[in-house]
Amino acid sequence: MTYVITSACIDVKDQSCVEVCPVDCIHFDENLDAMLYINPDECIDCGACEPACPVSAIFAEADVPESESEFTRINALWFEDALAARRLVEVFRQRAAGATATEGASR
Ligand code: SF4
Ligand code: SF4
Repeated sequence: MTYVITSACIDVKDQSCVEVCPVDCIHFDENLDAMLYINPDECIDCGACEPACPVSAIFAEADVPESESEFTRINALWFEDALAARRLVEVFRQRAAGATATEGASR
């Protein structure tokens, strides 16, 4: 198993999780990424990052909410193809922004 960073990290990126991770398996490119990613091949499942996150973006893989399930794949993908992972994050972000706009319009 692994831990997974989900959409709440987008544009927060405060790196509290990086500071507590004992195996340095949380990465991003500060200039290119909207969020951080956990390497599932290196994560030792210690759980230290979860309570350190100020926006509750981190979940054990088995506890990732259904609405955020694609982030399990996105975290792993970043370590194989960062560009593809960034595209998926952008698609998620635009979809979320669209949903918020629709909600606002229907009020
Ligand atoms: S669960 Fe532990 S090893 Fe895995 S990313 Fe979090 S702090 Fe690092
Ligand atoms: S602590 Fe949470 S918000 Fe901060 S970088 Fe890590 S996952 Fe993102």
